[in-house]
Amino acid sequence: MNVNQSAPPLPPFGQSQPVYPGYHQSSYGGQPGSTAPPTPYGAYNGPVPGYQQTPPPGVSRAPPSSEAPPASTAQAPCGQAAYGQFGQGDVQNGPSSTVQMQRFPGSQPFGSVPLAPVVSQPTVLQPYGPPPTSAQVTAQLAGMQISGAVAPALPPVGLGYGPPTSLASASGSFPNSGLYGSYPQGQAPPLSQAQGHLGAQPPQRSAPPQASSFTSPASGGPRMPSMTGPLLSGQGFGGPSLSQPNHVSSPPPQALPPGTQMTGPPGPPPPMHSSQQPGYQLQQNGSFGPARGPQPNYGSPYPGAPTFGSQPGPPQPLPPKRLDPDAIPSPIQVIEDDRNNRGSEPFVTGARGQVPPLVTTNFLVKDQGNASPRYIRCTSYNIPCTSDMAKQAQVPLAAVIKPLARLPPEEASPYVVDHGESGPLRCNRCKAYMCPFMQFVEGGRRFQCCFCSCINDVPPQYFQHLDHTGKRVDAYDRPELSLGSYEFLATVDYCKNNKFPSPPAFIFMIDVSYNAIRSGLVRLLCEELKSLIDFLPREGGAEESAIRVGFVTYNKVLHFYNVKSSLAQPQMMVVSDVADMFVPLLDGFLVNVSESRAVITSLLDQIPEMFADTRETETVFAPVIQAGMEALKAAECAGKLFLFHTSLPIAEAPGKLKNRDDRKLINTDKEKTLFQPQTGAYQTLAKECVAQGCCVDLFLFPNQYVDVATLSVVPQLTGGSVYKYACFQVENDQERFLSDLRRDVQKVVGFDAVMRVRTSTGQSWLEKSRRGTKPGRETSGSCDICSPDLIPVASGIRAVDFFGAFYMSNTTDVELAGLDGDKTVTVEFKHDDRLNEESGALLQCALLYTSCAGQRRLRIHNLALNCCTQLADLYRNCETDTLINYMAKFAYRGVLNSPVKTVRDTLITQCAQILACYRKNCASPSSAGQLILPECMKLLPVYLNCVLKSDVLQPGAEVTTDDRAYVRQLVTSMDVAETNVFFYPRLLPLTKSPIESATEPPAVRASEERLSNGDIYLLENGLNLFLWVGASVQQGVVQSLFSVSSFSQITSGLSVLPVLDNPLSKKVRGLIDSLRAQRSRYMKLIVVKQEDKLEMLFKHFLVEDKSLSGGASYVDFLCHMHKEIRQLLS
Ligand SMILES: [Zn+2]
Repeated sequence: MNVNQSAPPLPPFGQSQPVYPGYHQSSYGGQPGSTAPPTPYGAYNGPVPGYQQTPPPGVSRAPPSSEAPPASTAQAPCGQAAYGQFGQGDVQNGPSSTVQMQRFPGSQPFGSVPLAPVVSQPTVLQPYGPPPTSAQVTAQLAGMQISGAVAPALPPVGLGYGPPTSLASASGSFPNSGLYGSYPQGQAPPLSQAQGHLGAQPPQRSAPPQASSFTSPASGGPRMPSMTGPLLSGQGFGGPSLSQPNHVSSPPPQALPPGTQMTGPPGPPPPMHSSQQPGYQLQQNGSFGPARGPQPNYGSPYPGAPTFGSQPGPPQPLPPKRLDPDAIPSPIQVIEDDRNNRGSEPFVTGARGQVPPLVTTNFLVKDQGNASPRYIRCTSYNIPCTSDMAKQAQVPLAAVIKPLARLPPEEASPYVVDHGESGPLRCNRCKAYMCPFMQFVEGGRRFQCCFCSCINDVPPQYFQHLDHTGKRVDAYDRPELSLGSYEFLATVDYCKNNKFPSPPAFIFMIDVSYNAIRSGLVRLLCEELKSLIDFLPREGGAEESAIRVGFVTYNKVLHFYNVKSSLAQPQMMVVSDVADMFVPLLDGFLVNVSESRAVITSLLDQIPEMFADTRETETVFAPVIQAGMEALKAAECAGKLFLFHTSLPIAEAPGKLKNRDDRKLINTDKEKTLFQPQTGAYQTLAKECVAQGCCVDLFLFPNQYVDVATLSVVPQLTGGSVYKYACFQVENDQERFLSDLRRDVQKVVGFDAVMRVRTSTGQSWLEKSRRGTKPGRETSGSCDICSPDLIPVASGIRAVDFFGAFYMSNTTDVELAGLDGDKTVTVEFKHDDRLNEESGALLQCALLYTSCAGQRRLRIHNLALNCCTQLADLYRNCETDTLINYMAKFAYRGVLNSPVKTVRDTLITQCAQILACYRKNCASPSSAGQLILPECMKLLPVYLNCVLKSDVLQPGAEVTTDDRAYVRQLVTSMDVAETNVFFYPRLLPLTKSPIESATEPPAVRASEERLSNGDIYLLENGLNLFLWVGASVQQGVVQSLFSVSSFSQITSGLSVLPVLDNPLSKKVRGLIDSLRAQRSRYMKLIVVKQEDKLEMLFKHFLVEDKSLSGGASYVDFLCHMHKEIRQLLS
């Protein structure tokens, strides 16, 4: 039986394009970490009689022994047990049956808790500071200080060189931490990384003063010829004192007397080792390698590094050297400087090619013709005119686009423009949409397309006179002529089958197998859904959501529910033929919430009881998605499936999986198979889902390996989200799960979407008579409106690669069954041909989608970029955070096809090329021993190192295959702010700043040596949240926060702070709430005590240090990068 109609093909974007509706944020009611109390699930009052026909209890069998351990213990019961223990299913597999369900008498009244309103974060307007100077940062890495000279001034454990103090005690397993779902593994970390170096220092050597490191090249000045190694910097790198205006065009800093100036904003004093640094030593060429020879792990991450043996004269004495961490670029300082300089004034988008403030800066945006950086951020806002330049620089040209980004309340949602039946105005040739860059000519009767230069007629109803500057007099009355972002209402031409869409539907599909029941998940979820369905996304001022809902439960068979409002009780229909899935009912499956509320409530009360005694442990997965998709197809609407799933789908059915986890593959050529889906069935299924506009959100509750790499294929390709709660237990994890669920269900989503990014061809026109003089440069298909004597010359940039959660069936259209306000699409551009400095380059992102109310709309974002003929302009207008977003996504996709080591080497090489190109072409001549970084990219090495040592690219022993696949999948859709904090976590000291201060305390660098044992710190990366407590923190602080009298009484692993009525407690809890509200997923708190075994987990996030998995410390990596650059330059 097949109730489906064939899916109509998506209308190609090239023809009439659909319009994207904008959505209004006002309907968004919830926030993660909202004050809505966790929903306690109602007490279970005993089994309900009368359910005999629902899954029978089956043979009496001991439940599987895969129970999750208590989260706070260090046991490893969630280990990857064999699946053999699971028996065959016990549920009937017979023909479909219809069962009259009865009301569960003991259903608990559910306190419907309205979700908290959006927590707005007012932007604090501060006095406007001077813009950041574009300074050349001359990182003079020279002067690797002799450790002995510096070490005493530093904390005993620094840079990851020293043995982690708690390592010995840390060999136990991790408690269930709530980290993105790691299972306790009980494996000791490799100890090899812990070799100490500080202890083996040679006697201090005296070194020449380094005052010459800034010597002017012109004079051939005081440069020391022998200092071919890194020179000692006279300038601290970390402080703002390094900022130098005009790093390229102004005289090089060398002109300044050594050890002085570098005028810049006042800031912390330069590091003490400046010019009076006592201990420097001459470096021979490339002498880093030998110097750190004893470090077993240094070489391994970079096996591809060029060897330095060929370099002349390796230094004979091999004293351990180290850089002063204060002398290298500090992410914290860069973030602080940008906040101070750019956080006080709105970012006005009028001018072309403006670099926006950093994502870490709180600022308002005024749209004056270019899209807000909340929608589009670019790796560079000034792109090379030629592909040769671009290739030379190796700086990826990419835009991170978040078409439906949520805006702060102070900023207006895009206006919706309605052109009536004629629809949005577009260029006849390239189909670009009307935008502020279009040029009106001939008194306003025609317009020239800014993307392809085609001359188009202005339709009579759109005609308007021009003013003396050639601008339409109504330009400021029309969003599409004055704003960077706006929406058009789409006409029926933009709809599937030339039919306006129906409102979308949500289908909740709940695993009711043994594990789901036993963990309390099903009861918790059903209880929550009773109230959550009142908060489905709405549009504008709509009183209720237009979205219809449906419910399915499943184990190895599927149960559909008829919740038609006219029924006294819900009805269940069982489909056991999972190989040929169909939807057994049409009428009554998808219903309006308010009409069917009583029946839905009854159903949600009954589900936990019906399956309370289940012994069924096997599940299916693909048939569940298939069923949801078929249901949407039958209802002729788009929608979203919410799947709540617990285990590897081993039941006999399409998409059946086997446990193929094999950690032995790590660091082999076959490692990539761990990230690849084990069957192609899910891709095929995803394709069908996309055609139907069926987006899939997956909530996983695994107790062991579930093959996230395969299960996440459909969510990934349909624009959905994956959430993972390893070893889920209601008491420990309900807050996190419910927060995520509430936010996810309430998210405004665009359905059945297609996104296309158009770029200007920057082009010129070629007379036909000259056609053929430049083979391959003409485009075909000139339009009949244009002069017949001219043909366009194809040039400019074009989108060539895409990263994100979507599907593509051709090379240009990004198809998204669903797209929410958190998801980004990263687009890479390549040159077709020359760009023009005068005209710049334009991007137009058009997203056609169906709104939550079923309205078809087009959302348009425009952005104009500058073009340059000087590489220095490229480097001066780059954004490292966006670059890292692109590079991480590029690398994370790369692991599907290449060995992880190859992926890492590629990243390192590219980074070195980028920096070497700058050094060669833009920096002032200087000693080869100097590492010179472009101001805008001075954090590239530290951030790139964080990507390289992330769990996907360099997993630690405690990271499971599923964790890696999960993180890989998450990063794919992250925006720039999310990747920024994910790769370089925020570490906030809590007692240093005054308690009464309302602002967030300034962060410190993510390194153990920044931790004071007398303080407490919060660390967050968007997914994890730690509260670290130093061993000698004041007793009063301990009392105020934990309500215990001493450090030793604090419970390690605590996830909730007691609610105490004192300023410190309020401040810390308020800060935690605030951090959670900033992130798209709920971060579960873990309290970590210094020297406790949990601390190892925490240290994983101190990313400037050497990692237990072998990742280099920041200092080491910077040295390595310097070496690579010098190789390229020599
Ligand atoms: Zn055009």
